[in-house]
Amino acid sequence: MIDDAPIGALADEADRASAIEAAFNADALRDARLKAQPETHPDFDGKHCVECGEIIPKARLAMGRVRCVECQSVLERHRKLVRAA
Ligand SMILES: [Zn+2]
Repeated sequence: MIDDAPIGALADEADRASAIEAAFNADALRDARLKAQPETHPDFDGKHCVECGEIIPKARLAMGRVRCVECQSVLERHRKLVRAA
């Protein structure tokens, strides 16, 4: 019976919306944090992409990356697919 408590129903709706928003933000935040974190890999030698063995540019190494741009983009595309499924 929504007519009985219209204000309460609206407040509920707003609560639900902000709860969803908060969960979404937490997700985005965790993603951003994971991305910003230096990566590690047992096979990483400090110079070469762990996937294909290409030399990683110094700028990427400075960001703590263990994969070349190409392998990273493949990986991210794969992660997105996994999450969407
Ligand atoms: Zn690579």
